[in-house]
Amino acid sequence: MANSKYEYVKAFEKENYLLPDTYIVIRVDGKGFHKFSKYYNFEKPNDLKALTVMNKAALKILEKYSDILMAYGDSDEYSFLLRKKCELYERREMKLCTLFASLMSTYYMFYWNKECPNRQIEEEMIPTFDGRAVIYPNFETLRDYFSWRQVDCHINNLYNTTFWNLVKKGLTPQEAEQKLMGTVSSDKNEILFKECNINYNNELEIFKKGTILVREYENYKQQSNEQSLSSRQKQRQDKSRKKAEIKQYHVDIINDDSWWDQRPWLIE
Ligand code: ATP
Ligand code: ATP
Ligand code: MG
Ligand code: MG
Repeated sequence: MANSKYEYVKAFEKENYLLPDTYIVIRVDGKGFHKFSKYYNFEKPNDLKALTVMNKAALKILEKYSDILMAYGDSDEYSFLLRKKCELYERREMKLCTLFASLMSTYYMFYWNKECPNRQIEEEMIPTFDGRAVIYPNFETLRDYFSWRQVDCHINNLYNTTFWNLVKKGLTPQEAEQKLMGTVSSDKNEILFKECNINYNNELEIFKKGTILVREYENYKQQSNEQSLSSRQKQRQDKSRKKAEIKQYHVDIINDDSWWDQRPWLIE
């Protein structure tokens, strides 16, 4: 940047460097997607094409940044886990949040137009995402974070599935809402089964569990203390991260300890 007498204004800028050696989770969420989904006639309760677009956009972001170890997404949101030692953009919070939100917005737009040639994005209703970063100090809270998001997916999906099937049966949205007020999970399962002939267990896993994208290492070696690694060793590590295949799952990551145990690189 060229020197000038105006340069002092730079001192007004403040940067937050996310605490070192902690897990960074960046969550992006679509702005006003309730309206967005109406505008583009999403299938209710779940539009599979729209979920595919979300997953393709998120996969592209993982492919771009090898510091991302896994991601979890459902509805109009995605959470990206960055490894503890990640030094991407010096861990600058604003840089990371704005970057992830804009990557999601532009890739979403790109894949939408590719996947849905019959309902192209119009300038009146473009997909935009906000982003936030949260740091988690240990693996336990990190796991609880992902459990929180997956439980949210389950609760919303059970509600939406029951709600929309009641509406499809002829109830008005108000009547369906009234009927579901104060019900617990087992009530909704029963309403679905008895009144709509639907066994919730048979719904698609992607709807019930959301989507997990994860880097899968073939021959993972436990890392020694990263601070003591030479730059060559770090480069080699980075290479193996880049090489690791990214896989997609729709499984329970709340109760299944083995899912996490099998992937020690997520903890490291
Ligand atoms: P960073 O990711 O750190 O912002 P950057 O490459 O975007 O890196 P900037 O300081 O933002 O760096 O500078 C933008 C650069 O983009 C300019 O130096 C110039 O090379 C190029 N550029 C931007 N707009 C134009 C334009 N209209 N015509 C020609 N070059 C442009
Ligand atoms: P905000 O800007 O505060 O995030 P929002 O309208 O996006 O507001 P969310 O709580 O993020 O609210 O909820 C997203 C909404 O988008 C869902 O409630 C649902 O109506 C709709 N939606 C997102 N993805 C899908 C999908 N694949 N199928 C059907 N509806 C969807
Ligand atoms: Mg939203
Ligand atoms: Mg949302």
